[in-house]
Amino acid sequence: MTADKPLSNRDVRRAPLLDARAATRCPLRTHLMIEPPEHVVEQPLPVDVLVRIEEGRAFEDQVMAEVAAAVGDLPTLTGDEAATLAAMAAGVPVIPQAELRDHEGRRTGRPDLLVALPDPTPGGRTAYMPVEVKAHLVTAKAKGGSLGPLRACAHTDVADGLDPAAMAEVEGPWTRKRTDDLLQLAHYQRLLEHHGHAGPGWAGVIGSDRTLALVDLTAPTFQSWRNTTGRWSTLEKYDREFGFRLDVAALATDRVDGLTDEDPLVVPARSSECDRCRFEGVCTPRMEDADELTLLPKVTWDVRQRLHASGLTTRTALALADPTALPTKAIREAADHARVQTSGVPLAKVRGADVLELPRADVEVDVDMESTADGRVYLWGCLVTDRRAGTPPEYVPFVDFAPELDDTAVFVAFWDWLQRTRKAAIDAERSFAAYCWAGGGAEDRYLRLYGPRIGVDVESFITSPEWVDLHRVARAHVTTGGSLGLKVVAGRLGFQWRDDDPGGGQSMVWYGDAVAGSHEQQRRLLDYNADDVEATRWVRERLAEVWADLPRVGDLMPTG
Ligand code: SF4
Repeated sequence: MTADKPLSNRDVRRAPLLDARAATRCPLRTHLMIEPPEHVVEQPLPVDVLVRIEEGRAFEDQVMAEVAAAVGDLPTLTGDEAATLAAMAAGVPVIPQAELRDHEGRRTGRPDLLVALPDPTPGGRTAYMPVEVKAHLVTAKAKGGSLGPLRACAHTDVADGLDPAAMAEVEGPWTRKRTDDLLQLAHYQRLLEHHGHAGPGWAGVIGSDRTLALVDLTAPTFQSWRNTTGRWSTLEKYDREFGFRLDVAALATDRVDGLTDEDPLVVPARSSECDRCRFEGVCTPRMEDADELTLLPKVTWDVRQRLHASGLTTRTALALADPTALPTKAIREAADHARVQTSGVPLAKVRGADVLELPRADVEVDVDMESTADGRVYLWGCLVTDRRAGTPPEYVPFVDFAPELDDTAVFVAFWDWLQRTRKAAIDAERSFAAYCWAGGGAEDRYLRLYGPRIGVDVESFITSPEWVDLHRVARAHVTTGGSLGLKVVAGRLGFQWRDDDPGGGQSMVWYGDAVAGSHEQQRRLLDYNADDVEATRWVRERLAEVWADLPRVGDLMPTG
């Protein structure tokens, strides 16, 4: 299955060559990169994104060095197209940092590695498979199943020559979330086809555990509500996605050159990509003006298209729709989010939440932890409130900023203090509860990591009524029309953080400085953590105070 020419409906010959990310990139971004809006305010990338990019590069350099050491004789190409073509023609077994272009298909790409396969192409040339290096796990088992059987080996096995077809299959460890990896590999496969050096469809990703996961780009893999004939292979999905971006790019080019005044093929639609896109400042106001459905949580482009097909084209229309006529639970929830967003209320009761079931105690401890990039907790922060005594809450941190972090010792100190505080409350015949804002379950996960390490029973504590996940409580009772993160919920209830830009990624940068001895950043991290535990206490107190006055989501109507 080859794509001899672009699967595009337009004359794309004047479009720029698109890179490997094009097929997964927001199509409007492709348009705006060619026809930029007048007033683009450059936004610096979030610090955590920059840190991840830097870590990704460092990981890639390390893996490439290990592969080079295993192979022993790697050519140095550094993105030279002529040298890449010469190396492929000579049948070099492993080619790093290749550069390939396809002017007919309007593609360009730089696969990290091209690895020769044992069987030549039908034309008698050396066949290659593309391999990418990624600083994430590629073999973690996905919750919702897998993308099918997987063949895998160590990354340095490329030195001995690989025959993916002869390797044993492992069932189901491929993570679902890496569509972008697969489409990137499909892009390189199409480039190899153009140059007559493609294999039958094998490709690989070296993940953060240095496993080389091999995938068959021709295997049925992707399902879509638009596809009624079964699953698409990665190559089929890629061709559709890439072909559409080519149409977008071709039209944008023609508009720039004054050859057409046809409207762009795409409109702004919210996705996770927007947060790190330079056009966000242009697109968000346009989405607000258009009352765009993708501004609602979990309304993806596909869901939006389904809603449009049923005549619901704006948040307001969805908010006004009869909930009993909406087809799925997810769409009914989206309609409730739309009611909150279009009515302008900061917080509303979810359906069925008539009574606030919020566990309270005489002695309450709010808990929040901060961890390093490699998952070690350096700070357990606690805010203890004796409600009967009526004394001000006290912040008690357990922290280690030493370069040689002893995270087990930090946990021992925290756990001992928590148990002593609990025992003192119970001995004084007072009730006790500890609270966290777990969301993704980090606190429970770390309790389960460190508890067995020091031989204490954390399980009976985690499952007891004394350990309360306030995020779960909030989710059962209120909606913001969007995120239920602590920052949003506490903010809607009037809480303000001392730091202008609190956030997990930012805190990792502060931590690096704190470990290097910066007292200012140590103080900042403690203040940040103290604000987080104060915020969970604030949510508990304020929610109890305002509960009776909160509107029900079903009663909300769009304003304006
Ligand atoms: S801000 Fe979002 S919608 Fe706009 S171009 Fe960027 S990713 Fe696309």
